Amino acid sequence: MFLFTHFFSKPQSVHLTITSSNGFHLRPVAQFVSMSKSFPCKTTVTFQNKTVDAKSINTLLSLSLEKEDTFRLQTQGKRAEEAIQSLKTLFETLMQTDTQIKKIVKTVSNYQGNLIEGDIICEGIAIAPAYAYLRQEVQHETNVNFKEALHCATDELEALYLLHKKEDNAGIYLAQKELLASLGERSKTLSQLEQSIAEEIDTLLGSKMQSKSVDYHDILQRVKKHLGWETKVTFPNTPFILIADDLLPSEIDALLETQVRGVILQETSIYSHTAILLRAAGITSLIAQTENLSGKEPLILDAHAAVLVYTPSATDLEKAKQDEEQDKIQKAQSSSKRFETALTMQGKKIKVLANVADLNSAKEAKDEGAEGIGLLRSEFLFKATKPSLETQQKAYKEIFSLFDDITVRTLDVGGDKALPYIQIPTENNPFLGIRGVRLFKTHPELLEEQMYAIFLAAKEKALKIMFPMVSTVEEFTQTKAFAQNVAKKYQIDISNIDFGIMIEVPSVLFLLEQFNEVVDFYSIGTNDLAQYLFAIERTHPTLKVDALSPVLFSAIENILQKATKPVSICGELAANKNAIEKLLHLGLETLSISPKSIAKTKELIRHV
Ligand code: PEP
Ligand code: MG
Repeated sequence: MFLFTHFFSKPQSVHLTITSSNGFHLRPVAQFVSMSKSFPCKTTVTFQNKTVDAKSINTLLSLSLEKEDTFRLQTQGKRAEEAIQSLKTLFETLMQTDTQIKKIVKTVSNYQGNLIEGDIICEGIAIAPAYAYLRQEVQHETNVNFKEALHCATDELEALYLLHKKEDNAGIYLAQKELLASLGERSKTLSQLEQSIAEEIDTLLGSKMQSKSVDYHDILQRVKKHLGWETKVTFPNTPFILIADDLLPSEIDALLETQVRGVILQETSIYSHTAILLRAAGITSLIAQTENLSGKEPLILDAHAAVLVYTPSATDLEKAKQDEEQDKIQKAQSSSKRFETALTMQGKKIKVLANVADLNSAKEAKDEGAEGIGLLRSEFLFKATKPSLETQQKAYKEIFSLFDDITVRTLDVGGDKALPYIQIPTENNPFLGIRGVRLFKTHPELLEEQMYAIFLAAKEKALKIMFPMVSTVEEFTQTKAFAQNVAKKYQIDISNIDFGIMIEVPSVLFLLEQFNEVVDFYSIGTNDLAQYLFAIERTHPTLKVDALSPVLFSAIENILQKATKPVSICGELAANKNAIEKLLHLGLETLSISPKSIAKTKELIRHV
């Protein structure tokens, strides 16, 4: 009886919402389908009155689920309950870990030669003659039949998936395997498979998924290979810039064996699997319309400025060579080592954390090699309207799940940071008015809700909470007591939480001995500290603080000498290439910086 109820649980249903900006796209859908298939129960997805089988990648993709769409997942039959739980957890993880592909901002170019503009796939500079892609198919005799070829291709994709499982791009192989499974069910011969693929590609035309047509071509090529079709691609044995309509994802590996310097594709998108793999391989590449480019003369592919210079002048070439050299040094040194610990030349470990503002920047930080979050600027999480407790809790939870080491700053509103739903009376000097921690006094309900949401999201996870703009010891003790009362009121154990302050107001420099008695940690906010030390508003249009002023360094030195609790730095100074050596010599061991600066900063640390 027990077994019966266990296996044949009631039909289950749950509503799930797409939170990734990329929508529910091929790779996550493939993982979802793959898991659905591992359960014996019937699994369906309903969206806008259309119900499809969640075990078929094509039908699920046909729903074109985009960010903020909510669908209903249903399971029915054997192990339905277990299936729904597992799929829900997988879906939430997929949404959380799906990194948004953003258009890369183009730099300004200043070339004398003629240009073709494009969109950047992977940044870099390449100088070489153009080479037009040439693919030829040759058929050999074989005894393999279509069914066997289908099996071999599926096994190959499975093997590739397992081989690359730990890498970000493994999902591409799983996606292709699922696509092949779904197409294979419908095809008994190669021509039927070709027909199905042509139909699928037709339906993609003009849609956001159009760039996935290369995956279909790739699958077809893989099956054909086992039926004796050999694809011959020739490359020059001297450096070249490859010009092609598109490339198959499976061709990128082969390209790495050649002297390719850059790639220009005419018919792909920055979201295609080919583009993802070009980026992963670090091949300078651009999407641009380039007709009839050939010859022995070198071209300049500047994939920072997103241009192809096809009649470069001698000056253009000279400048591009210098930029290329510079790029090479930076790329090789920083990016490939961004996940490695940053050790100084003497072997001292420097922790490199990220300053983030929301889930996307937290994910970006993870991708860029951050070891944690040193500053979560919570005021940027909800810009338009006041979020509910549940929305706040969910947002914090998603961010907290990404790292073990997290410091969240309570609302830092006022001065240069306004929120439409927080009213602060007009002040003559808003930078010296109600801002940061002072809001605990003026807006206690709002702060109570924020504390509660953070506590709920943290559960038992170790977390650091820091208060901004603290200027006196009492301000800290009272605010910490406020937080403790919130915990008491809602009966939450917060022994997992440390409380600290940002050092942004100069008065703290004179109170460190007392602060040492009460805080768990400090984080130096040099952006505000500099403005208050020099009485120059940080947003002032003409007056500017000298970012490398010795006064700032001596303030930091003073803090490090007196502080008996851990000190980190999260102001802009921490990512300033001219400041890092000094900061480390003063004794700082933890830097929190913008995600984009992580790889570079780690590399600079390695040279100190
Ligand atoms: C700072 O003041 O240095 C800081 C990191 O905080 P914000 O820039 O958010 O004020
Ligand atoms: Mg500040």
